[in-house]
This record gives sequence, structure tokens and C-alpha cells, in this order.
Amino acid sequence: MTRDPRHDILFTPLQIGPKTAKNRFYQVPHCNGGGYRDPSAVAEMRRTKAEGGWGVIFTEQTEIHPTSEITPFIEQHLWEDKDIPALAAMADAMKSNGALAGIQLAYSGINGPNLYSREVPLAVTGGPILTFTSDPVQARTMDKQDIRDLRHWFRAAFRRSQEAGFDLICLYGAHGFGILQHFLSRATNHRTDEYGGSLKNRSRFIREIIEDARETTKGELAVTLRLSLHEAGTLGFSNAELRDFIAMHADLPDLWDLAHGTWEACSGTSRFKPEGAQEDLVAGIKALTSKPVVGVGRFTSADAMVRQIRSGILDFIGAARPSIADPFLPKKIEEGRYEDIRECIGCNICVSGDMTGAISRCTQNTAFMEEWRKGWHPERARPKGASESVLIVGAGPTGLEAALQAAKRGYKVTLAEATTTLGGRVARERQLPGLSTWGRVADYRTGQLAPLPNVDIYRDSRLTADDLLAMGADHVAIATGATWRRDAVARVHLHPIPTDPAMPIYTPDDLMAGNAPEGRHVTLYDDDHFYMGSVLAELLLAKGNSVDFITPAVKVAEWTDNTLEQGVIMRRLLELGVTVHLSKAPEVIGAHEIILGCIWTGRQTSLAADAVVLVTSRQPNDSLFHATRALDWAGAGIKTLQLIGDAAAPGPIAWATYAGRNWAEGLDQQQDPDTPAFRREITALDPGPTRLPQPLPQHVGNAQALRKKALLPPNAPIRQGPPQPICRRTPQ
Ligand code: ADP
Ligand code: SF4
Repeated sequence: MTRDPRHDILFTPLQIGPKTAKNRFYQVPHCNGGGYRDPSAVAEMRRTKAEGGWGVIFTEQTEIHPTSEITPFIEQHLWEDKDIPALAAMADAMKSNGALAGIQLAYSGINGPNLYSREVPLAVTGGPILTFTSDPVQARTMDKQDIRDLRHWFRAAFRRSQEAGFDLICLYGAHGFGILQHFLSRATNHRTDEYGGSLKNRSRFIREIIEDARETTKGELAVTLRLSLHEAGTLGFSNAELRDFIAMHADLPDLWDLAHGTWEACSGTSRFKPEGAQEDLVAGIKALTSKPVVGVGRFTSADAMVRQIRSGILDFIGAARPSIADPFLPKKIEEGRYEDIRECIGCNICVSGDMTGAISRCTQNTAFMEEWRKGWHPERARPKGASESVLIVGAGPTGLEAALQAAKRGYKVTLAEATTTLGGRVARERQLPGLSTWGRVADYRTGQLAPLPNVDIYRDSRLTADDLLAMGADHVAIATGATWRRDAVARVHLHPIPTDPAMPIYTPDDLMAGNAPEGRHVTLYDDDHFYMGSVLAELLLAKGNSVDFITPAVKVAEWTDNTLEQGVIMRRLLELGVTVHLSKAPEVIGAHEIILGCIWTGRQTSLAADAVVLVTSRQPNDSLFHATRALDWAGAGIKTLQLIGDAAAPGPIAWATYAGRNWAEGLDQQQDPDTPAFRREITALDPGPTRLPQPLPQHVGNAQALRKKALLPPNAPIRQGPPQPICRRTPQ
């Protein structure tokens, strides 16, 4: 395999200030749900990117001071010298293969509720904290001394970043999360002093801070600036104003790192944003500066990357999700192994790990964030154990991943699939509006399995329990998936509801099989809350139906807040003419109408319908497993028999691929059931300082209490002490 010479340009080095990147693959900062809680897991994850050939690798958002933190989201802290070792370990891992190590420094201002540190939030202009969770907290407007303090805290962070061994410092002013953007934008900067008003004034803090960075690091580190390409709203920092800013400060940072407005806009899912979606916003900016420009666009195609560089739009190909889905993307392009690229499907399950305070996972790269915890690798598999053969029943995402990982370990793999198509649920869901990219889950795995000599795939082979026993495999995994229920059982209804048989009921499986109502008045009940309900509403509309969308939640598809899609889903349904009924659930399904109950008051209303679509929950297809377990499978020579994936516990596709890998990794491994199946770090107890009795200040404290303890003479004057500063302030 050789690389297409057209792609050579991606492997030309480029200077970033005092540093040189070995190629054009630039892993922009991205969260991972682990952050400061899981330092070794994060460091090892970044090490795989170094191994995979990235030229520049960044940390996630690193909070520089406790007066601005975004709990419950778990990012990095660089609050004191004690934070340096964890970040130094990460920098070390990043540089292990010649990459430049970058740290993204953030002060969140109006975006940081300080739920952990309990400090008063400081903002360019005070007001309610602008977070996803509408925290009932306001920030105080910074005065001049606060701004001097902030510069001081940034300088401390620059010094610590250098001590930790980073090559690049990224100043975060994008996605609405960073105070640099809050200074620039008239939406968040209402100041009347020299930091507000004109663009020149609003840029002042950035100029100062970049100067500070250069001075503190003695010009040895590159300083990059990450800004939003376009902030919506009449007073937002628009694309036009960004261009004015860049023209005004063309050579200020060592590199311009540009990303669309909000995080939701920047990291849109493939359902709503194609590859390279930010091109219009970034095109032409390179002409305004002599410094390199990096932009993102969920790039996975080498041709698309080359086009960005050749046409003078970008110098570096920025990537977060493509680098998560395939940490070896650069290496595979370098070696011409294009068919081995594990392309991101744009599902944003990785984002949901950060949004839920869990550790992130990736639908495509099952090793993501398990590199240290479980010793998994995105490319390599551990050698097989003593057994020889495995049988996997069902070729959905679970079965395909199980087969691939077991085969890579060296087992002889038999994969049996009841239908003629490989992919299971993905083969069906990829046909739905907006979900075609999800087909990559099946395509990548079938493509990887095809050339392997130790894999036999049988299509059109619905196995029975007797078949399983007769096949003589050492280990059997049953990955037979799940079926959508047609009785409304999910979260609101734990038992079936009364349903008139005259009302046509459809499930997602019916619609995906092509059995959808046409030209009728359809009521869709969504007690699943993820993507399926809204996707099917789109499908029903395309078939000429009118749609009433019923959800017991206070918003449609509420879990998609975690994939950054909820707002855009709501907008799309309303624009398409779907009638949305919030906080309602069906209580009775009649022949021609549905009785809806209000979730809060129980008040009933009726809604006429020709057909009902139930998007509720799924029933595991586990009958084959139970039938086999009832037989003497051990006597037939089977060492382990396991139910995995959706057949065990239905969940998102990422849960299925993970289950497949977990099963394959566990073959011939002993796991102590009394300890966690993964490594973790436990916060170390701080050994000191020992709490010795402190001499009492004369002028502070609770007078009554002190008098009671006879520590103050009865007539001693008591005066209230000055409030203790939360931190040392810099001299005026
Ligand atoms: P998962 O997400 O866990 O992979 P899917 O529903 O996507 O689950 O895939 C399950 C696959 O198992 C489907 O392709 C289905 O056709 C297949 N299957 C179900 N029962 C059998 C069986 N008895 N023998 C072989 N394949 C089966
Ligand atoms: Fe891409 Fe989905 Fe993996 Fe995120 S979870 S990197 S969006 S495939």
C-alpha cells in the first residue's frame, strides 16, 4: 500500500511560532469526561494519538483558577503547582512520538458557576451565569483590580504550563466558554472603560494576555488563539467582526484556531452537519494574516483535507471527533491504508460522556478512554488465550465488533447472521432520514473482517439452540439484538396500557422494515427520549402523514441535550409542521382516538388519530440464549455461553460495540468478580499540614463563643475583621 502523492502535502512540516509541527494533523482540544478525575486514563488516551501520528495534540479545557470552574463538567485544573504533575504526565505522553504538546487554558467568566469552589464568579460584565443547566447564580462585573488579578492568574498558568512541558498554549475564546470571547463580544461586554466599546478596546485584554504569555515563557512557547467564527445574535461577535479583529491583529498570536460559534454549532452531529460545514465561515481568513490557520469540520477524508490546504482555506486540519474515532488517522493516510480508517459517524456519544460527568466513550473506537483503564488499544489486540474457537450469533454492531476483536486476538471466528445483511440495527437505522453516516459502524467492521483468514461469516443462517451445540466452538456469544415494544411500556408505563385492536399500532421496527402509514394522521408517542422519535417523525412527514408528537418530558428528545442536538431537533420538528404535545402520555389507545394524561395534573384530553407509532423501549431477543442454557451446553464442549449487547440490555449503538469488544477482550481472562473490571485512580489524602491549635486573632471570631471558652476577657472590645481575600491580589 502506498500513499497517494496528492496527500503528501498533509505531511509537510509547518512552523507555529518558535515550534515546528511535523505534519498538518492538529488534534484540537477536546473533552473526554475524565479530566482531572482520571489523569492516567487521559494521558494514555493522548499517547495513542501520538502513536497514531498527530502533529499537534492538545489537552481539554484547563481551568486556570478556582474563581472560574464549570462543575459538574470534569475538565482539567491548573490551579496550583500541585496540579502540574498530572498535566506533565499528559504532556509527556503527547510528545512520545514527535508531536507538539498543547494545553488549552480557560477562564470561563460568565460561563463558570463555581459550584465546587464556591467562589463568586467574575465576568467581563456581570449577570446570570450562561450554562447549559441555567444555574441560579450570577457573576460579578470585574473591576480593574480583578482584571489585573486575572492577568496574574494567567501568568501563573503560563509558568505552570511551561513547567509541565507543553510546547503550545491555546488561549480559549470560543464556544461561548472562554473569557477572551466574552471581552470581544458586545453581547457579553457592556463595559464603558478601556476594555469595552470599540473593537480596539474589546481586544485590549487579548493583546495584554498574549504579551504576558510571551514574556512569562520568554518566547519559548507558541501562543495560539482559539476564537469563535461566528456568534449568533445582533450583538454577537459576528464573522464580519472576527475578520475585522484578525485584520487588526494579524500577527498577534502564533496561530489562529477557529471554530464555529457555540459548541452545539461547532460540533453538530452528522444528522445536521456534513463534513467541512464551517468552510464558508473560515474561507478568506488566511489572507488576513501571515500566521497559520487551523479549522475543524469532522474531516475524515484525505481528499477533503488536502482540498482545504490546497485551496488556501486552512494550514492545519483540526480534528477532535475524527481523532477520537481513529487516533491512527494520520498514520493510516501516511501509509496509504485508507480502507483501514475508522471514520467518525458524527453521533456525539463522545460528547455525552462529558455532558453527563461520566467517562466518554466512542461508538466507533471502543478503546477510547479504556487505553489505561482496561489496557485496550485502538489498533492492537492482546494475543489469544488457551482456547481456539468462538461462535458469535448475530451480526449487529455487537456481533461485528466481537468478531473483529476476537479475530484480531487470533481466535478462529464463526459469525452467523439470520438475515442476508450484516449490520443488524445499523443496517436498518442507516436508511432513516439523516442517519446514513451511521452505516460506517457496519462498513468499517465488515471491511476489516473480510480479508481475515480466521473468520467465517454465514449469512441467512438463523441458528437454533441445537445448532449452537453442534457447532463445536469453545466460546459462544449470543448477540441477537432487541425488538421495539408495541405496548407503550417504558418509563411512564411500567405495564401495558388498554389498547383497542382496531387502532393500527406501529413500532420503529415496522417503519424501518418499510411498513409505515401513508397520508394519515399519526400520533407518535416518544418515551425513549433519544433520536429515534424525532427521526421517525421526519420519516412520517416525508410519507405525507401529519404528525402529533407526544412526550411525557418537558422538551422533545430530551436526552439529546447530551449530544448537543436537542435545540436543533426541536427547531426542525416545528419548522416541518409537527404538532408537539409536551408533558403528556397516552393512558388509553382507542379505535380512533387517544386519551392523553397530563404528567403533572392528570387532566385528560383526547386526540384523534388514524395510527399510533410507539417509540418506547426494547425487548431483548434472548430466547435463543435461554433455550441454549436449558440444554447441556457445557457437556457439548462449550466453555462459556454469554448474552451480549442489545440482547442482554438494549442501549445506544456505542453500548453495543463496547459490549462486543468487552466480550472478546475477556476471552480466556480471569476477572476477580469482587474488584472493578477497570483500573482507576483514587484521590490521595493530603498528608498535611497537621492541624495544630492556631493562636487566636484578637479581632475576629464569634465573640459569644470566645467568651464562653474564656478566651477573651469579658470586656475586651470586639471588632469585625476585614473580609479575607480569596486569593492574593497583585499590587495596584
Ligand atoms: P446489537 O446492537 O446488539 O448488535 P442488533 O439488533 O443490531 O443487535 O443485531 C442483532 C442481529 O442478530 C440481527 O442482525 C439479527 O438478524 C441477528 N439474529 C437474531 N437472531 C438470530 C439467530 N437466531 N441466528 C443468527 N442471527 C440472529
Ligand atoms: Fe465520532 Fe460518535 Fe465516536 Fe464521537 S462517539 S468520535 S461522534 S463516532
